Amino acid sequence: MRNGSIPGTRGRVRPLTLLGDPVLHEPCGDVSDFGPELAGLVEDLFATMYAHEGVGLAANQVGVPLRVFVYDCPDDEEVRHLGHVVNPRLVETDGVLLRGPEGCLSLPGLEAGVERHDHAVVEGFTATGEPVTIHGTGFFARCLQHEMDHLEGRVYADHLTGRRKRKLMRQVARSSWRRVN
Ligand SMILES: [Zn+2]
Repeated sequence: MRNGSIPGTRGRVRPLTLLGDPVLHEPCGDVSDFGPELAGLVEDLFATMYAHEGVGLAANQVGVPLRVFVYDCPDDEEVRHLGHVVNPRLVETDGVLLRGPEGCLSLPGLEAGVERHDHAVVEGFTATGEPVTIHGTGFFARCLQHEMDHLEGRVYADHLTGRRKRKLMRQVARSSWRRVN
C-alpha cells in the first residue's frame, strides 16, 4: 500500500472461487517475487473483499494459489484491523476455544458455528517485503485463523462434524451458487 491511499481503490474485482473448486482445497505456495504483480494482487484482493462486504480474503479465493491474504476486520472491542500479509505463518494460538458463527465468501450466504482460539499471532511480510507481526483477539483472531486455513487448503466446513456438518452440506446442496457449479 502506498502511504495515504485507501486499499483497493486501484484494484479490480476478481471472480470468487467457490467451495469445490480445487484451488480452495490445496495448500498455496510461497510468494517469491515481491514485485508490482504482487502489489496488484493485494489491491485486487481488497477490491474484491470490499465488493462482497467480507472481512478477509485469501488469494486462492480469487483463484491465485499463493500465500497472501487481506483483512479489514473488527475485534470484539470494535477496534478495526486493516492490512495484508504475504507468506504468513500462524506462530501462536491460545486462549479459550470459542464456538462462533462464521461465514466465507466462497460459501456465499451460509454460516455455521466453528470453534476457534480467542488469540492468534501471525508473522509474515508486507507486499514490499517488510516483516510484520499481527496480533488478533476475539473476532479478529477468528478471522486470522480462518484466512490461514484457506492458505493451507482448508475451509471452515472442514472443521465441522456430525449434525453441524450435515446441516451445512444440505444448505450447500440447496444453494443457487452450488447448482450452477
Ligand atoms: Zn473464507
